[in-house]
Amino acid sequence: MHAGAVGGQVMWERAAIIAVGDEVLTGEVVNTNGSWMARELIRAGSRPLLQQCVGDDVEAIAAAIRGALERVDLVVLIGGLGPTPDDLTRLGAAQALGRGIHRDPAVTEYIRARHRQGVGHEASIAQQSEIVDGAEVLLNPVGTAPGQLIRTGPQERQAVVLLPGPPSECRGVGALLLERVRQATGRQLVRATWHCYDLTESELAHYLRPILTGLHPRAGLYTRPGVIDLRLEAEAEAAGGGLPAAVARAAAEAQALVPVPLYDDAWPIAPDRLLDALRRRGETLAVAESVSGGRLAAELTAVPGASDVLAEDVVVYTDAAKVRLGVPAELLAEHGPVSQAVAEALAEAVRRRAGTVWGIGITGWAGPGGGDEREPVGTYYCAVAGPDGVVTRRRRTRMAREVVQQAAAETARFMLATRIHPHP
Ligand code: ATP
Ligand code: MG
Repeated sequence: MHAGAVGGQVMWERAAIIAVGDEVLTGEVVNTNGSWMARELIRAGSRPLLQQCVGDDVEAIAAAIRGALERVDLVVLIGGLGPTPDDLTRLGAAQALGRGIHRDPAVTEYIRARHRQGVGHEASIAQQSEIVDGAEVLLNPVGTAPGQLIRTGPQERQAVVLLPGPPSECRGVGALLLERVRQATGRQLVRATWHCYDLTESELAHYLRPILTGLHPRAGLYTRPGVIDLRLEAEAEAAGGGLPAAVARAAAEAQALVPVPLYDDAWPIAPDRLLDALRRRGETLAVAESVSGGRLAAELTAVPGASDVLAEDVVVYTDAAKVRLGVPAELLAEHGPVSQAVAEALAEAVRRRAGTVWGIGITGWAGPGGGDEREPVGTYYCAVAGPDGVVTRRRRTRMAREVVQQAAAETARFMLATRIHPHP
C-alpha cells in the first residue's frame, strides 16, 4: 500500500459511513457512532461525503456498500457484527464484494478467552469469528466481535471496514482503523472555530460572504443556542501541528470583515476552560439561575473538580425564591422578574451570600407563554457581578423554550469569560 498522495490522489480521501441496525433506522437509538466517526475521519484526513443508515437486512446492506463504493474509497459500516441472527453486516459485505466467509481460528481463540460462559456461547463465538475472505482482522480491545478491513477495487485502493455497534467497541476498534487512515491519507484536516455573540446568522453571513463563498479553506456558519460559530477547515501535513496558514489567514480576514469581536476557542467560554481560567486566577463563582433552570449548574458541575471554583448554583424560579435569596420585593414589583434590575440583584445577592469573587444572575422568559410588550418571550438578562461592579446584558432568542434556556447559559459563560479576558 502506498501512503499519502499517489499520482496526485490522496488515498482514502473520501469516506462513507453506514450505520447498520433497525433500532438506528427507526430512531430508537440515536446514531452517535456516525457523528463520532465523521469527526474522527476528518481529523485523520478523510472527508465523509455521505452518511447512511440501513436496517438489519443482507440485501440492503450489500446495496448500500455497492452504492457507496461508486462514490467514495473508504466505506465504514458500524453495527451488526454481534452474535445474533439479526447481525448481518458480515454477510452483506461478503455479498457486495462477491467474497466468501471463513472462520479464523486465531480470532476464535481470542474471542473465546474473553467470552462469557453460558447458554449458546459456542454459537456466539463461532458467529463472531466469521471473517470475510481477504479481510484484515482488527481485534476488539474492549469486546469480542472484531472489526474487519477489506481492501477492494482497482489496485485495492478502496476499502470496506466493518466495526461493532456498541459505542465503546466502535471507538475501541475504530481507533485501530483511524490509525490506518492517518497513515493512508498522510494528512489531517484541521478545523478551527470562532464564535460570534453580537450578530444574527444572516448578518454574519452578510459580512463574511467573501470567505463563505471561497473553497480554501472551507468555511461554514453553524447556529448554536445564543451563538453563531464560524468554522474554517483546511488540510495540514499529518506531522505538522498548529493551524495551517490558510486558516489563520482566513480568520484574520474574517475579523477584519466583521464589525464585532470574534472569539476563538482559546477564550475561556466553554465550561471546562472557564473553570480552568478562574482556578488559575484563584477566583470563585456563585450563580443564581431563573430562566435557565440549572443548565449552567449542570454544565459547570459536569467538569471534574468544579468545586474548586463553583461554590453554589441555586435555581430561584419564583418571585418568592428570589426574595429569599435577597432580591428586594419592591424591586421585583417595580421592574418585574425579567429586568436588568432583577438580574443584577440576583448576581449580587448570590455573590454576597456565597462570599465569592464572581456572581452570575440569569432571568428571562423561556416561553412559550409569559412575556409582555416590554420584555417579549425569548428575552433574558444575564448579569455578572465582580470586584469592579456588575455588567448586564439583555438578549432575545426567538426560538423554542429549551433553546432560550441554553442560550441564557451560553451568554452567562460568555459574559464572565470576557470579564476575565476582554477582547482587545
Ligand atoms: P452486539 O454484539 O452488541 O450485537 P453489534 O456490532 O451487532 O454488537 P448492534 O447490535 O448493531 O451492534 O448494536 C448494539 C448496540 O449498540 C445497540 O443496541 C445500540 O445500543 C448501540 N448502537 C448500535 N448502532 C449504533 C449507532 N450507530 N450509534 C449509537 N449506538 C449504536
Ligand atoms: Mg447486534
